[in-house]
Amino acid sequence: MQNEKYISEIVANVIKSMQGETATPAPEKRLKGVFDTMSEALAAVDTAYKQLRGYSVEQREKMIAKIREYTRAEAENMAKLGVEETGMGRVSDKIIKHMLVADKTPGTEDLSPSVRTGDCGMTLVEMAPFGVIGSITPSTNPSETVICNSMGMIAGGNAVVFNPHPNACRTANYAVDLINRAVLEAGGPENVAVSVVKPTRETSDEMVKSPIVRMLVATGGPGVVKMLLSSGKKAIGAGAGNPPVIVDDTADIEKAAKDIVAGASFDNNLPCIAEKECFAFDNITDRLMSLMEQNGAYRLNAEQTEKLKGIALVEKDGKYDINKKWVGKDAGKFLKALGIESDARLIICETEASHPFVQVEMMMPILAIVRVNNIEEAIALAVQAEHGNRHSAHIHSKNIDNLSNFAKAVETTIFVKNAPSYAGIGAGGEGYTTFTIAGPTGEGLTAAHSFTRQRRCVLVDSFHII
Ligand code: NAD
Repeated sequence: MQNEKYISEIVANVIKSMQGETATPAPEKRLKGVFDTMSEALAAVDTAYKQLRGYSVEQREKMIAKIREYTRAEAENMAKLGVEETGMGRVSDKIIKHMLVADKTPGTEDLSPSVRTGDCGMTLVEMAPFGVIGSITPSTNPSETVICNSMGMIAGGNAVVFNPHPNACRTANYAVDLINRAVLEAGGPENVAVSVVKPTRETSDEMVKSPIVRMLVATGGPGVVKMLLSSGKKAIGAGAGNPPVIVDDTADIEKAAKDIVAGASFDNNLPCIAEKECFAFDNITDRLMSLMEQNGAYRLNAEQTEKLKGIALVEKDGKYDINKKWVGKDAGKFLKALGIESDARLIICETEASHPFVQVEMMMPILAIVRVNNIEEAIALAVQAEHGNRHSAHIHSKNIDNLSNFAKAVETTIFVKNAPSYAGIGAGGEGYTTFTIAGPTGEGLTAAHSFTRQRRCVLVDSFHII
């Protein structure tokens, strides 16, 4: 219910903005903050950071408010551009993702200084900027990550240089331009967020090694997180997941079916938090799958499932990997390749736990369902399928022991009970949003506070007034 309310509010706002009630600034020829070379970008962002230091927290908050306004107004542009450039995802869902970023990314209110007083006086701990932050962003949420990172980083008093995914850099750089337009209109400095026209591994290398960059943030798969963690700098790593969802026989099966289809098909399963394999109790699996079919899923038989394996995955030396051409594609396209005409949002099929549809992080609207006999088996298989990423996991159950035992065993950063996975980032669930979920380095759902340094200021023998 709450999810539906949240999503219908977003749709109403989008319609409003499309009716011209919110101004959409015309795109300019030369994108603001986007440079030909990384050295130009670094020099510009260095100057911007020095200027930003002279701005008050209230002024920073005005910049964030303008970014929110621009993001709402241009959500549809960015959603369309993202799908057009990457060939992945769904425009309607990407609009929701941008609205979520605009509405629920924390600003300066996330920074809370602390004070300790006692016999010796008063000690104050404040959250200071790091300086210039270098951020590497993924192809799956290109503009969402740029905007969400920028809001948190600027709220924390930092400036940011991006090296976006090369296959999504037009969309990411549109967002860099948006940040600069918004900040300038709010009276802020030029180039608080910068990027390069053509990001490459070389530009990424230059950014990582530059003495101007004091902190690094990577959002992506295991390769980029590993690279960043060996940089010798303070780094935040937001890595891959393969979120399992368990459905036991105490769950509201109708709601579970609906929620899982909604979560697993959202943006064609691109989000790192989305349900990627399902472990269902044997006695409710048939009903669960029929209810999923009634809620927008298409069920494959065993022969079709094996055929789909040959399309969605590639095999090398007995190991399966994703066929990159098919990441984030509509379910209808996969079905068409199987000779089936359907506008289903999600494909479901029954497999063994060892099937690559369970084990590989596919980021495709394909959900394998594995029958289990009891909660112990469900938890053991789900923990194995999550591969120790400790990213996200979900469950539908009314049994409090099952809920807590799975949470304890899987140790994920995000754990959603009885809702679609996206409730874990604030869509229909309590809490703020982020598109950089830092499991490997432990910051969790990043926000302004994650991009700050704690500084202590001690005053001895004063301001202790009792
Ligand atoms: P990707 O790992 O291919 O690319 C991410 C970024 O890292 C890109 O900018 C890419 O150019 C760069 N990169 C990749 N390998 C690198 C290396 N060895 N050295 C330097 N740079 C490198 O990921 P993607 O396909 O764009 O995104 C999907 C992946 O990201 C999935 O694994 C997903 O789970 C993960 N992801 C995680 C989060 C999170 O918050 N934890 C959010 C979104 C996506």
